[in-house]
Amino acid sequence: MAAHLTPFDRAMSFMHASFQRLKLSEREKKLLSTPEHILRHEISFKRDDGKTMKVHGYRVQFNNARGPYKGGIRYHPDADIEEVKALAALMTVKTAVVNIPFGGAKGGIQIDPKKLSASELERLSRAYLRSIADDIGPDIDVPAPDINTNPQIMAWMRDEYETMKHVYAPDLITGKPMSYGGSLGKDKATARGGFFILQQLAKLEGLDLRQARVAVQGFGNAGSEIAMFLHEAGAQIVAVSDSRGGIYSKVGLDPIRIEQYKKKTGSVRGQYCEGSVCDLKKLKMDQTEVISNEDLLMCDCDILIPAALDNVITEKNAKSIKAKIILELANGPVSPEADAILQKRGTIVVPDVLANAGGVTVSYFEWVQGRSGEQWTAEKVDRELRRIILQSFDDVRSEAKRRELSYREAAFDTAILRIVEAMRVRGWISK
Ligand code: NAD
Repeated sequence: MAAHLTPFDRAMSFMHASFQRLKLSEREKKLLSTPEHILRHEISFKRDDGKTMKVHGYRVQFNNARGPYKGGIRYHPDADIEEVKALAALMTVKTAVVNIPFGGAKGGIQIDPKKLSASELERLSRAYLRSIADDIGPDIDVPAPDINTNPQIMAWMRDEYETMKHVYAPDLITGKPMSYGGSLGKDKATARGGFFILQQLAKLEGLDLRQARVAVQGFGNAGSEIAMFLHEAGAQIVAVSDSRGGIYSKVGLDPIRIEQYKKKTGSVRGQYCEGSVCDLKKLKMDQTEVISNEDLLMCDCDILIPAALDNVITEKNAKSIKAKIILELANGPVSPEADAILQKRGTIVVPDVLANAGGVTVSYFEWVQGRSGEQWTAEKVDRELRRIILQSFDDVRSEAKRRELSYREAAFDTAILRIVEAMRVRGWISK
C-alpha cells in the first residue's frame, strides 16, 4: 500500500490520525493540512566554466499561528516540493511540541551540491536567498541549515540579505558561524536534545544506559554526536553506518576513534567531508565486521537511532527490529505502517518531532540572542535546552499515559491542540 505515498502523504497520515482523535472541525483540519504559502523559483547561477545552471528552489511556509515560520533549507536531489511540504508540516508540529514561539516552514533546492565547487555553492546560495528575500525576515520567516547546508552557507545568506536590504539582521537566519552571530551549543543541539530524552526515558523504563547497546544509522552531524554522548555515558555503540554502509562490533565501537579516522582519511570536496565509516575496514578494530544499512536496522541492540534518511523503517522490516527503543533523530524515518507494527509489538518510538527538536530549540536561542544583542554562555544554552526538552518530554509522556497513546500520538495531539488554540485566540477559527 505504502510504495506510492509521497513524503507529504506520510506526514499527513500522522496529522490526520491526530485530527480524528481530537475531533477537529473541517475548517481546523483544512488549515492544518494546507501550506499557507508555497514559493517556487527557478534559481540561476554561474558555473565556474561561465555557463548558467538553473535549478528548482522552494520555500514552503506551512503555518504561522504561533509565531514566525521556522525551518531549515535542504540541498538534495530529492528535495522536491512534496518533500519540502512534508518537512514544513513537521516543523509546524515540532515547534509546537517544544512550545517555542514559531510556526513551521522548510526550504529546499533540488540539486546535488557535492558536485559544485565552493564558489559555485556560494553563488547558488546567494541566488536562492535573493529569490526568497522579500518573503522572509526576522519577524516573518527564519531559515536555518538542514541536510547539506551549514554555517558558512547561512553566513553567505545573511550577508546577501543585509547587503540587499541595507539592514543589520542577526536574527534573520540561525545556524550561523560563531564569528557572525551564531550561538554556542548549536552544533551539538540536536544530538544533545535526543540524549537528554534517552537519559530520562532510560531512568523511567529501568534501563541502565551503561548496559545499553546502541546502533546509529547515519554518522553525520546528528548521528556522530549522539554516539559520542552515549559512549561518554557508558553505553556500548555496537553499530554505525553512513551512505556507503556500516560496521558492527558486538564488543562495542569507539565513536571518537571513528570520527578521528573519518576526518583523517576523508577527502573534503567543496564544503563536504567524504570520509566513510566503511573505511574502517582498513583500521584494525576489535571484532569489527562490515554490515549493510538494512542489517544495521535489524541488529541486536537495545536502542536504535535512525539519523540519516526518511522512510527507512517500513512494513517490510519493522517486524525484524530487535531494539526496544527507537529514537528518531532523522526526520520521518518510520513509515505510518511500520509505526503501527512497532506500536503493536510494544517498541517505544520517540518521534522525530520530539527526539530531534533540540536543534530548533537552540535555533530559537540564537534568534533570541540576535534580537537582544546578548551572548549566552554554553552553560546557559545547555541548561535552557535541558529545561525545554525535558518539559516537552514530560508533557508528551503524561499525555501518552493519561490517554493510552504512543509517544508519537501524544506528541502530535499536544502540538495540534496548541496550534488550534493559537488559531482560535487569533480569530482564524470560531470557538
Ligand atoms: P548529515 O548530512 O550531517 O549526516 C547524514 C548522515 O547520513 C551521513 O553520515 C551520511 O553519510 C548518512 N547517509 C546518507 N545516506 C544514507 C543511507 N542511504 N544510509 C545510511 N546513511 C546514509 O545530516 P544531519 O544533519 O546529521 O541530519 C541527519 C538527519 O537528521 C536528517 O534527517 C535531518 O533532517 C535530521 N535532523 C538533523 C538536525 C541537525 O541539527 N543536524 C536537526 C533535526 C533533524
